[in-house]
Amino acid sequence: MELHARAPHDSLAGLARNLFMDTNPTLMQRALGAYLGLAIGDALGATVEFMTAREIAAIHGVHHNIVGGGWLRLKAGQVTDDTEMALALGDALLRGGLDDANVIARAYVTWMQSCPVDIGNTCRRGIRRFMLQGTTAATAAPDSAGNGAAMRNLPAVLATLHDENAFEETSITQAHVTHNHPLSDAGTLTLGRMTRRLIRGEGLAAAHAEVALLLEYISEFRFSPWPGMTSGYIVDTVQTVLDAFFTTTSFEDCLVKVVNRGGDADTTGALAGQLAGALYGVDAIPERWLKKLAPNVHTAIREQTIHLLALRPEIQEVMPKHCPAPVHLRPRTTTATAI
Ligand code: MN
Ligand code: MN
Repeated sequence: MELHARAPHDSLAGLARNLFMDTNPTLMQRALGAYLGLAIGDALGATVEFMTAREIAAIHGVHHNIVGGGWLRLKAGQVTDDTEMALALGDALLRGGLDDANVIARAYVTWMQSCPVDIGNTCRRGIRRFMLQGTTAATAAPDSAGNGAAMRNLPAVLATLHDENAFEETSITQAHVTHNHPLSDAGTLTLGRMTRRLIRGEGLAAAHAEVALLLEYISEFRFSPWPGMTSGYIVDTVQTVLDAFFTTTSFEDCLVKVVNRGGDADTTGALAGQLAGALYGVDAIPERWLKKLAPNVHTAIREQTIHLLALRPEIQEVMPKHCPAPVHLRPRTTTATAI
């Protein structure tokens, strides 16, 4: 029967066993690969955000090193709103946000008040609405189909690896604080489901199945042949990310391909890094990139990953002893000017 093929991953015991043993890469390596992949794609892509592929080729040849700069004048290894909002969400989920949208919305407020290096318009509008009105869900709006909800959703995946319904509920709750649009919901859920199944060890076929399901219902997301759009519109972002992910065979090739297309390159880089990291595992991330990533971000991601996976007591049993206490989002140490 069909179910038997997935049985080892569907039981919590199997999931827990999978954390540190059994497979190569292990579940922990895939989870860490996804989160560090997200940050590395953000740091790599931010250099060429809003440039065209032609401009990137003229200036960089092939852009393949984390060097900072870009329109935000970043330090090498510095991340932007994509990674920072994910860390804010992860922090909120560790503090009770799984059961309370207010905890999530407040974490976004704290982040916005920390003078982030960048923030999307829809995010700013949604966080301001919560501050002024106290509502945790935006009303549906045609102009809220940006990629801002999808780019920060990874912690929801990690916190609910054992429970698909909880994953969907948490994803939609965190998304709707700022983005309430059916295409944003569909993109956020599909990228999350793909990541979730990859981390659980279900392999590339499971990722393909999730995409097939999306395309069956919303053909607008068709990405082959790649339509060539790289904006922050969720449809453009998903198409660009999926094309890079499915047409490459290594973490490095996937990220180099996606960021050199320019446009919203830090966000396509982040999401491609999340998928590729979940598939290939943390050991597939080039050392030269890992070394460049801002150390406080690297540490926060490692600790948050462990604690998000450990939210379930059944999984905690196989966690290493003496896990460090959760590290919360630290205040920014740079002086980059917000625009
Ligand atoms: Mn960004
Ligand atoms: Mn971006």
